[in-house]
Amino acid sequence: MYKCSYERLDEKIKTFSKFGDTGKGGITRFSLSDEAIAARTELVRRCKALGMDVVTDDMANIYATLKGSENLPAILSGSHIDSVRQGGNYDGVLGVLSALEMLETVVKENIPHKHPFTLVVWTNEEGALFEPAMMSSGVICGKFEKETMLKSKDMNGVTFAQALEKSGFAGDISNRLTPEKYKALIELHIEQGPVLDIEKIDIGVVEGVCGMINYEFSFRGQAGHAGTTPMKYRKDALYAAVKTIQYLHDELDKLDSALVYTTGKISCHPNIHTIIPDEVKFTLDARHYKPAVITQVLEIIKKIPSEVEKCEVSYTQAWSRASVAFNKRLIDYVETSAKELGFSLMRIYSGPGHDAQFVSDVIPTTMIFVPSVDGHSHCEIEYTPTEACLKGVNVLLAAMLKADAE
Ligand SMILES: [Zn+2]
Repeated sequence: MYKCSYERLDEKIKTFSKFGDTGKGGITRFSLSDEAIAARTELVRRCKALGMDVVTDDMANIYATLKGSENLPAILSGSHIDSVRQGGNYDGVLGVLSALEMLETVVKENIPHKHPFTLVVWTNEEGALFEPAMMSSGVICGKFEKETMLKSKDMNGVTFAQALEKSGFAGDISNRLTPEKYKALIELHIEQGPVLDIEKIDIGVVEGVCGMINYEFSFRGQAGHAGTTPMKYRKDALYAAVKTIQYLHDELDKLDSALVYTTGKISCHPNIHTIIPDEVKFTLDARHYKPAVITQVLEIIKKIPSEVEKCEVSYTQAWSRASVAFNKRLIDYVETSAKELGFSLMRIYSGPGHDAQFVSDVIPTTMIFVPSVDGHSHCEIEYTPTEACLKGVNVLLAAMLKADAE
């Protein structure tokens, strides 16, 4: 089997970690910032040096294509090159550098392939400066309106349209990914969670992306003096909220153990130590790959009475995302490739969202996960040893060749 190069991959990871280097082990590389433009420019230079044709679409997504021996739709691999504030050197960019190393191996080893192979870079996956996340894959896959996205503003009032214009990377709409031009996508990414690392597994064979719901709960009580109102006459909205959070935990813990749920945001009014709280709000984010489990979560939410501890309870769904199942054939290619290379593997679902989940509505798609040490991600200590990354890149190459052989 063909093998990619440790030295070349390691050099790529080290070089690209300089674009937006925080000096503390991580990067801040917002989409279309000067740092991101420098990384894109270096990437394009390297792709051209390998003999690839590079175009961009109207959302500045980059497509660098290595011709195949036949005139067929291309097979894609890639990810994003932008980061969150003080992010790590692996989220997204590893998928781009893996695709680059995989293609460099194809060129250097003269590996025959019928289909063109295309490296793709999605613009603004993180949505760190311009909301929402996964903006540009979302536009070309029909999830977001382009006109609305162009109006998205950063904290200085600069619009995404202005950043796009200034970047010099906005190309033609005709270069967008379509099912006529592209056959499949295989994206490599770090897991961003602790499972593969804890279980000492080399490769996560990703079956899809978890569905999720996000609810906002609201509790209305009565404000009053903390020194004068006897306990039995109180309508304490915070106490009602706490009891409800406890109920949710008790009940949700009885469901499938793969369910994850979080109350990450809470507000208390008036938030003064001498006043009984009269309004408390909190959120519940719940994720699972099976829609049936999400339905069970909703049933538990519906059992919350309209009054708790004499406080009025209401809730609304802020937003939700259906679970995404990746392409079975491609999942098999990834699994078989990992087995043939002698790597340990497990099937896994992604908790975080990825561009690949939007693309999977347009063309057959799957993902490969490599472990994140201690599960750290979206922080400067995010780390995956090059040796572990290389296993993923070798699986990527083998899976690309299996998709090519169809
Ligand atoms: Zn990412």
